[in-house]
Amino acid sequence: MKRNLLQFDGEGLARWFEGMGEKAFRARQVERWVHQSGEGEFARMSDLAKGLREKLALAACVEAPIVVGDSVAEDGTRKWLLKVDGANAVEAVFIPEVDRGTLCVSSQAGCVLDCEFCSTGKQGFNRNLTTAEIVGQLWLANRFLRDEEHPRPISNVVMMGMGEPCLNLDEVIPALRLMLDDHAYGLSRRRVTVSTSGVIPGMDRLREECPVALAVSLHAPNDALRDRLVPLNRKYPLRELLAACKRYLERAPRDFITFEYVMLEGVNDSDEHARELLKIAAKVSCKFNLIPFNPFPGSGFKRSSAERIARFAEILRRDGLTVTTRKTRGDDIAAACGQLAGEVADRTRRSTRRTVALKEVRA
Ligand code: SAH
Ligand code: SF4
Repeated sequence: MKRNLLQFDGEGLARWFEGMGEKAFRARQVERWVHQSGEGEFARMSDLAKGLREKLALAACVEAPIVVGDSVAEDGTRKWLLKVDGANAVEAVFIPEVDRGTLCVSSQAGCVLDCEFCSTGKQGFNRNLTTAEIVGQLWLANRFLRDEEHPRPISNVVMMGMGEPCLNLDEVIPALRLMLDDHAYGLSRRRVTVSTSGVIPGMDRLREECPVALAVSLHAPNDALRDRLVPLNRKYPLRELLAACKRYLERAPRDFITFEYVMLEGVNDSDEHARELLKIAAKVSCKFNLIPFNPFPGSGFKRSSAERIARFAEILRRDGLTVTTRKTRGDDIAAACGQLAGEVADRTRRSTRRTVALKEVRA
Protein backbone atom coordinates (compact mmCIF):
# COMPACT_ATOMS: atom_id res chain seq x y z
CA MET A 1 0.00 0.00 0.00
CA LYS A 2 1.35 3.39 -0.97
CA ARG A 3 1.22 6.12 1.67
CA ASN A 4 -1.02 9.02 0.74
CA LEU A 5 1.08 12.08 1.54
CA LEU A 6 -2.06 14.23 2.04
CA GLN A 7 -2.58 12.26 5.25
CA PHE A 8 0.51 13.78 6.90
CA ASP A 9 0.99 17.14 8.57
CA GLY A 10 4.49 18.67 8.26
CA GLU A 11 5.91 16.86 11.26
CA GLY A 12 4.37 13.55 10.27
CA LEU A 13 5.84 13.85 6.80
CA ALA A 14 9.30 14.61 8.22
CA ARG A 15 9.09 11.53 10.47
CA TRP A 16 8.00 9.38 7.57
CA PHE A 17 10.93 10.65 5.47
CA GLU A 18 13.33 9.92 8.30
CA GLY A 19 11.89 6.43 8.57
CA MET A 20 12.82 5.97 4.91
CA GLY A 21 16.35 7.15 5.61
CA GLU A 22 15.79 10.60 4.09
CA LYS A 23 16.55 13.99 5.57
CA ALA A 24 13.73 16.08 7.10
CA PHE A 25 14.47 19.04 4.81
CA ARG A 26 13.60 16.82 1.85
CA ALA A 27 10.19 16.33 3.43
CA ARG A 28 9.69 20.10 3.54
CA GLN A 29 10.68 20.35 -0.10
CA VAL A 30 8.08 17.73 -1.01
CA GLU A 31 5.52 19.40 1.25
CA ARG A 32 5.95 22.64 -0.71
CA TRP A 33 5.60 20.83 -4.01
CA VAL A 34 2.43 19.08 -2.91
CA HIS A 35 0.61 21.85 -1.07
CA GLN A 36 2.00 25.07 -2.51
CA SER A 37 2.44 24.00 -6.13
CA GLY A 38 -0.43 21.50 -6.06
CA GLU A 39 1.84 18.88 -7.60
CA GLY A 40 0.76 15.26 -7.36
CA GLU A 41 3.38 13.64 -9.60
CA PHE A 42 6.78 12.97 -8.04
CA ALA A 43 8.41 12.82 -11.47
CA ARG A 44 7.66 16.54 -11.90
CA MET A 45 9.29 17.60 -8.62
CA SER A 46 12.25 18.87 -10.55
CA ASP A 47 14.59 19.86 -7.72
CA LEU A 48 14.55 16.40 -6.12
CA ALA A 49 17.22 13.87 -7.00
CA LYS A 50 16.03 11.35 -9.55
CA GLY A 51 16.63 8.49 -7.09
CA LEU A 52 14.37 10.08 -4.49
CA ARG A 53 11.66 10.76 -7.04
CA GLU A 54 11.68 7.11 -8.03
CA LYS A 55 11.69 5.94 -4.44
CA LEU A 56 8.70 8.18 -3.66
CA ALA A 57 6.79 7.00 -6.73
CA LEU A 58 7.07 3.44 -5.43
CA ALA A 59 6.21 4.16 -1.79
CA ALA A 60 3.82 7.10 -1.87
CA CYS A 61 0.99 8.85 -3.70
CA VAL A 62 -0.94 12.11 -3.51
CA GLU A 63 -4.58 11.18 -3.58
CA ALA A 64 -7.48 13.62 -3.09
CA PRO A 65 -11.20 12.76 -3.27
CA ILE A 66 -12.65 12.31 -6.76
CA VAL A 67 -14.41 15.34 -8.23
CA VAL A 68 -17.85 14.26 -9.45
CA GLY A 69 -19.44 17.70 -9.66
CA ASP A 70 -18.20 21.23 -10.24
CA SER A 71 -20.53 24.21 -10.54
CA VAL A 72 -20.25 27.98 -10.48
CA ALA A 73 -23.07 30.22 -9.25
CA GLU A 74 -23.95 33.59 -10.74
CA ASP A 75 -22.34 35.32 -7.78
CA GLY A 76 -19.05 33.47 -8.40
CA THR A 77 -19.49 30.88 -5.66
CA ARG A 78 -17.96 27.61 -6.85
CA LYS A 79 -18.91 24.24 -5.47
CA TRP A 80 -17.31 20.83 -5.87
CA LEU A 81 -18.98 17.54 -5.13
CA LEU A 82 -16.32 15.10 -3.99
CA LYS A 83 -16.72 11.38 -3.82
CA VAL A 84 -14.81 9.93 -0.86
CA ASP A 85 -15.91 6.31 -1.28
CA GLY A 86 -18.59 4.26 -3.02
CA ALA A 87 -21.35 5.53 -0.75
CA ASN A 88 -20.32 9.00 0.39
CA ALA A 89 -19.80 12.38 -1.16
CA VAL A 90 -19.01 15.67 0.53
CA GLU A 91 -18.86 19.19 -0.75
CA ALA A 92 -16.40 22.02 -0.63
CA VAL A 93 -17.58 25.53 -1.47
CA PHE A 94 -15.50 28.56 -2.45
CA ILE A 95 -17.12 31.89 -1.61
CA PRO A 96 -15.47 34.94 -3.19
CA GLU A 97 -15.87 38.30 -1.50
CA VAL A 98 -14.42 41.69 -2.20
CA ASP A 99 -11.51 41.36 0.19
CA ARG A 100 -11.13 37.61 0.58
CA GLY A 101 -11.86 34.15 -0.77
CA THR A 102 -13.21 31.62 1.71
CA LEU A 103 -13.26 27.87 1.32
CA CYS A 104 -15.87 26.00 3.33
CA VAL A 105 -14.67 22.49 4.15
CA SER A 106 -16.45 19.35 5.43
CA SER A 107 -15.15 17.25 8.33
CA GLN A 108 -17.51 14.26 8.36
CA ALA A 109 -19.91 12.49 6.02
CA GLY A 110 -23.15 13.13 7.92
CA CYS A 111 -23.38 14.18 11.55
CA VAL A 112 -24.43 12.36 14.69
CA LEU A 113 -25.69 15.45 16.55
CA ASP A 114 -29.09 15.80 14.91
CA CYS A 115 -29.79 19.53 15.28
CA GLU A 116 -33.45 20.21 14.48
CA PHE A 117 -32.89 22.70 11.65
CA CYS A 118 -29.95 21.00 9.92
CA SER A 119 -30.30 18.73 6.92
CA THR A 120 -26.96 17.03 7.60
CA GLY A 121 -28.13 16.11 11.09
CA LYS A 122 -31.36 14.74 9.70
CA GLN A 123 -29.42 12.35 7.48
CA GLY A 124 -27.54 10.68 10.30
CA PHE A 125 -23.85 9.89 10.59
CA ASN A 126 -21.90 7.90 8.04
CA ARG A 127 -18.22 8.30 8.92
CA ASN A 128 -15.36 10.59 9.83
CA LEU A 129 -13.33 12.02 6.98
CA THR A 130 -9.60 11.34 7.05
CA THR A 131 -6.98 14.10 7.14
CA ALA A 132 -6.28 13.39 3.46
CA GLU A 133 -9.97 13.83 2.62
CA ILE A 134 -10.20 17.07 4.61
CA VAL A 135 -7.00 18.65 3.33
CA GLY A 136 -7.72 17.15 -0.08
CA GLN A 137 -10.69 19.55 -0.38
CA LEU A 138 -8.30 22.48 -0.02
CA TRP A 139 -5.68 20.91 -2.26
CA LEU A 140 -8.23 20.38 -5.06
CA ALA A 141 -9.92 23.77 -4.70
CA ASN A 142 -6.53 25.50 -4.88
CA ARG A 143 -5.66 23.70 -8.09
CA PHE A 144 -9.01 24.48 -9.71
CA LEU A 145 -9.03 28.13 -8.68
CA ARG A 146 -5.47 28.60 -9.87
CA ASP A 147 -6.43 27.31 -13.30
CA GLU A 148 -9.29 29.80 -13.72
CA GLU A 149 -8.91 32.57 -16.27
CA HIS A 150 -8.50 35.00 -13.39
CA PRO A 151 -6.95 32.90 -10.61
CA ARG A 152 -8.55 33.37 -7.21
CA PRO A 153 -6.57 32.72 -4.02
CA ILE A 154 -8.03 31.07 -0.92
CA SER A 155 -7.40 33.49 1.94
CA ASN A 156 -9.64 31.87 4.58
CA VAL A 157 -10.80 28.38 5.46
CA VAL A 158 -13.90 27.64 7.54
CA MET A 159 -14.70 24.17 8.86
CA MET A 160 -18.41 24.80 8.36
CA GLY A 161 -19.23 22.14 5.84
CA MET A 162 -20.84 18.88 6.64
CA GLY A 163 -20.18 17.35 10.08
CA GLU A 164 -18.97 18.31 13.53
CA PRO A 165 -15.21 18.98 13.43
CA CYS A 166 -14.81 18.70 17.21
CA LEU A 167 -15.95 15.07 17.05
CA ASN A 168 -13.20 14.24 14.56
CA LEU A 169 -10.18 16.10 15.90
CA ASP A 170 -7.72 13.23 15.38
CA GLU A 171 -8.12 13.84 11.65
CA VAL A 172 -9.04 17.54 11.71
CA ILE A 173 -6.03 18.79 13.72
CA PRO A 174 -3.33 17.59 11.28
CA ALA A 175 -5.38 19.20 8.48
CA LEU A 176 -5.54 22.48 10.43
CA ARG A 177 -1.80 22.33 11.03
CA LEU A 178 -1.20 22.05 7.31
CA MET A 179 -3.42 25.06 6.71
CA LEU A 180 -1.21 27.06 9.10
CA ASP A 181 2.13 25.57 8.01
CA ASP A 182 4.35 27.96 6.04
CA HIS A 183 5.57 25.06 3.91
CA ALA A 184 1.95 24.20 3.04
CA TYR A 185 -0.90 26.76 2.94
CA GLY A 186 0.59 29.35 5.30
CA LEU A 187 -2.69 30.85 6.52
CA SER A 188 -2.71 32.84 9.73
CA ARG A 189 -4.48 31.42 12.79
CA ARG A 190 -7.26 33.97 12.50
CA ARG A 191 -8.03 33.01 8.92
CA VAL A 192 -8.81 29.41 9.79
CA THR A 193 -12.09 28.86 11.64
CA VAL A 194 -13.52 25.77 13.29
CA SER A 195 -17.28 25.83 13.84
CA THR A 196 -18.67 23.68 16.64
CA SER A 197 -22.11 23.07 18.05
CA GLY A 198 -20.48 23.05 21.49
CA VAL A 199 -18.51 19.84 21.98
CA ILE A 200 -16.70 20.99 25.13
CA PRO A 201 -13.93 18.34 25.34
CA GLY A 202 -13.16 19.04 21.68
CA MET A 203 -12.99 22.80 22.28
CA ASP A 204 -10.56 22.23 25.16
CA ARG A 205 -8.40 19.96 23.06
CA LEU A 206 -8.36 22.35 20.13
CA ARG A 207 -7.29 25.15 22.47
CA GLU A 208 -4.32 23.07 23.62
CA GLU A 209 -3.27 21.66 20.28
CA CYS A 210 -4.23 24.11 17.57
CA PRO A 211 -6.07 27.24 18.73
CA VAL A 212 -7.47 28.58 15.47
CA ALA A 213 -10.45 30.96 15.36
CA LEU A 214 -13.55 29.45 16.93
CA ALA A 215 -17.19 29.81 15.93
CA VAL A 216 -19.82 28.36 18.25
CA SER A 217 -23.30 27.53 17.00
CA LEU A 218 -25.42 29.07 19.72
CA HIS A 219 -28.88 29.36 18.10
CA ALA A 220 -30.74 29.92 21.39
CA PRO A 221 -30.29 32.18 24.42
CA ASN A 222 -31.50 29.71 27.07
CA ASP A 223 -31.23 26.00 27.85
CA ALA A 224 -34.91 25.19 27.35
CA LEU A 225 -34.86 26.34 23.72
CA ARG A 226 -31.31 25.19 23.00
CA ASP A 227 -32.07 21.70 24.35
CA ARG A 228 -34.64 21.47 21.59
CA LEU A 229 -32.72 23.00 18.69
CA VAL A 230 -29.25 21.64 19.49
CA PRO A 231 -29.78 18.36 21.41
CA LEU A 232 -26.10 18.34 22.43
CA ASN A 233 -27.05 21.12 24.86
CA ARG A 234 -28.59 18.49 27.14
CA LYS A 235 -25.08 17.13 27.63
CA TYR A 236 -23.20 20.45 27.59
CA PRO A 237 -25.57 23.19 28.79
CA LEU A 238 -25.03 26.90 28.20
CA ARG A 239 -23.29 27.67 31.49
CA GLU A 240 -20.62 25.04 30.78
CA LEU A 241 -20.42 26.05 27.14
CA LEU A 242 -19.75 29.67 28.04
CA ALA A 243 -17.09 28.62 30.54
CA ALA A 244 -15.43 26.59 27.77
CA CYS A 245 -15.56 29.63 25.46
CA LYS A 246 -13.79 31.70 28.10
CA ARG A 247 -11.16 29.02 28.58
CA TYR A 248 -10.64 28.95 24.83
CA LEU A 249 -9.89 32.66 24.80
CA GLU A 250 -7.44 32.51 27.70
CA ARG A 251 -4.61 31.61 25.38
CA ALA A 252 -5.29 34.51 23.05
CA PRO A 253 -6.96 37.29 25.04
CA ARG A 254 -7.34 39.57 22.02
CA ASP A 255 -9.42 36.97 20.20
CA PHE A 256 -13.19 36.58 20.29
CA ILE A 257 -15.72 33.80 19.81
CA THR A 258 -18.07 34.11 16.85
CA PHE A 259 -21.53 33.03 17.93
CA GLU A 260 -23.54 31.70 15.03
CA TYR A 261 -27.29 32.12 15.35
CA VAL A 262 -29.68 30.67 12.79
CA MET A 263 -32.77 32.88 12.41
CA LEU A 264 -35.92 30.74 12.69
CA GLU A 265 -39.22 32.56 12.37
CA GLY A 266 -41.26 32.56 15.58
CA VAL A 267 -38.82 30.21 17.30
CA ASN A 268 -35.70 32.07 18.43
CA ASP A 269 -36.03 35.50 16.79
CA SER A 270 -38.04 37.71 19.17
CA ASP A 271 -36.86 40.95 20.81
CA GLU A 272 -36.90 39.10 24.10
CA HIS A 273 -34.52 36.45 22.71
CA ALA A 274 -32.16 39.19 21.56
CA ARG A 275 -32.21 40.80 24.99
CA GLU A 276 -31.51 37.43 26.61
CA LEU A 277 -28.55 37.00 24.27
CA LEU A 278 -27.08 40.24 25.52
CA LYS A 279 -26.67 38.63 28.94
CA ILE A 280 -24.64 35.84 27.34
CA ALA A 281 -22.61 38.29 25.30
CA ALA A 282 -21.68 40.18 28.47
CA LYS A 283 -19.91 37.06 29.78
CA VAL A 284 -17.51 36.35 26.94
CA SER A 285 -15.69 38.36 24.30
CA CYS A 286 -17.75 37.67 21.17
CA LYS A 287 -19.25 38.72 17.89
CA PHE A 288 -22.53 37.52 16.43
CA ASN A 289 -23.18 36.09 13.02
CA LEU A 290 -26.88 35.80 12.20
CA ILE A 291 -27.66 33.11 9.61
CA PRO A 292 -30.98 33.33 7.77
CA PHE A 293 -32.38 29.79 7.92
CA ASN A 294 -32.14 27.85 4.68
CA PRO A 295 -35.19 25.64 4.42
CA PHE A 296 -35.13 22.03 3.26
CA PRO A 297 -38.04 19.63 2.69
CA GLY A 298 -39.71 18.54 5.92
CA SER A 299 -37.69 20.85 8.17
CA GLY A 300 -40.78 22.42 9.71
CA PHE A 301 -39.03 25.78 10.14
CA LYS A 302 -39.25 29.08 8.29
CA ARG A 303 -36.66 31.77 7.76
CA SER A 304 -37.19 34.98 9.75
CA SER A 305 -38.07 37.99 7.60
CA ALA A 306 -35.34 40.43 6.63
CA GLU A 307 -37.05 43.08 8.82
CA ARG A 308 -37.07 40.75 11.83
CA ILE A 309 -33.39 39.92 11.35
CA ALA A 310 -32.54 43.62 11.03
CA ARG A 311 -34.45 44.45 14.23
CA PHE A 312 -32.79 41.55 16.08
CA ALA A 313 -29.37 42.72 14.97
CA GLU A 314 -30.19 46.28 16.00
CA ILE A 315 -30.99 45.20 19.59
CA LEU A 316 -27.68 43.37 19.83
CA ARG A 317 -25.78 46.29 18.32
CA ARG A 318 -27.25 48.75 20.79
CA ASP A 319 -24.99 47.20 23.39
CA GLY A 320 -21.95 47.75 21.19
CA LEU A 321 -21.78 44.20 19.88
CA THR A 322 -20.46 43.49 16.40
CA VAL A 323 -23.19 41.71 14.45
CA THR A 324 -23.01 40.46 10.88
CA THR A 325 -25.79 38.86 8.89
CA ARG A 326 -24.73 36.08 6.61
CA LYS A 327 -25.58 36.69 3.02
CA THR A 328 -27.03 33.69 1.26
CA ARG A 329 -24.48 32.76 -1.38
CA GLY A 330 -24.59 30.42 -4.31
CA ASP A 331 -28.21 29.43 -3.78
CA ASP A 332 -28.75 28.95 -7.52
CA ILE A 333 -26.36 25.98 -7.30
CA ALA A 334 -27.65 24.83 -3.89
CA ALA A 335 -24.49 25.97 -2.16
CA ALA A 336 -26.19 27.85 0.67
CA CYS A 337 -25.77 26.96 4.30
CA GLY A 338 -27.66 23.86 5.35
CA GLN A 339 -29.20 23.31 1.91
CA LEU A 340 -29.49 19.78 0.64
CA ALA A 341 -27.14 19.28 -2.24
CA GLY A 342 -25.20 16.81 -4.32
CA GLU A 343 -25.47 13.09 -4.34
CA VAL A 344 -23.01 10.47 -5.44
CA ALA A 345 -23.47 10.31 -9.17
CA ASP A 346 -23.35 6.52 -9.36
CA ARG A 347 -26.98 5.59 -9.92
CA THR A 348 -26.37 1.89 -9.52
CA ARG A 349 -25.93 2.46 -5.80
CA ARG A 350 -29.15 4.30 -5.31
CA SER A 351 -29.87 2.90 -1.88
CA THR A 352 -26.58 4.03 -0.48
CA ARG A 353 -26.42 7.44 -2.09
CA ARG A 354 -26.13 10.25 0.36
CA THR A 355 -27.13 13.83 0.16
CA VAL A 356 -24.87 16.41 1.68
CA ALA A 357 -25.31 19.76 3.29
CA LEU A 358 -23.64 22.97 2.32
CA LYS A 359 -22.45 26.28 3.32
CA GLU A 360 -22.25 29.95 2.89
CA VAL A 361 -20.27 32.54 4.69
CA ARG A 362 -20.78 35.76 6.55
CA ALA A 363 -21.55 38.79 4.50
N1 SAH B 1 -21.25 21.08 13.04
C1 SAH B 1 -20.73 22.39 13.09
C2 SAH B 1 -20.27 22.93 11.76
C3 SAH B 1 -21.13 22.66 10.55
S1 SAH B 1 -22.63 23.52 10.42
C4 SAH B 1 -21.70 23.33 13.75
O1 SAH B 1 -22.84 22.96 13.96
O2 SAH B 1 -21.27 24.44 14.09
C5 SAH B 1 -22.14 25.22 10.08
C6 SAH B 1 -23.25 26.22 10.46
O3 SAH B 1 -24.42 26.07 9.62
C7 SAH B 1 -23.74 26.00 11.89
O4 SAH B 1 -23.82 27.20 12.59
C8 SAH B 1 -25.10 25.39 11.66
O5 SAH B 1 -25.90 25.55 12.77
C9 SAH B 1 -25.58 26.12 10.43
N2 SAH B 1 -26.73 25.49 9.75
C10 SAH B 1 -27.05 24.18 9.69
N3 SAH B 1 -28.21 24.00 9.01
C11 SAH B 1 -28.63 25.21 8.62
C12 SAH B 1 -29.75 25.69 7.85
N4 SAH B 1 -30.66 24.86 7.36
N5 SAH B 1 -29.85 27.01 7.62
C13 SAH B 1 -28.91 27.86 8.09
N6 SAH B 1 -27.84 27.48 8.82
C14 SAH B 1 -27.69 26.17 9.08
FE1 SF4 C 1 -24.17 18.46 13.02
FE2 SF4 C 1 -23.59 21.08 12.92
FE3 SF4 C 1 -25.69 20.07 11.56
FE4 SF4 C 1 -25.79 20.21 14.23
S1 SF4 C 1 -25.66 21.96 12.78
S2 SF4 C 1 -26.41 18.44 12.98
S3 SF4 C 1 -23.68 19.77 14.76
S4 SF4 C 1 -23.55 19.62 11.20
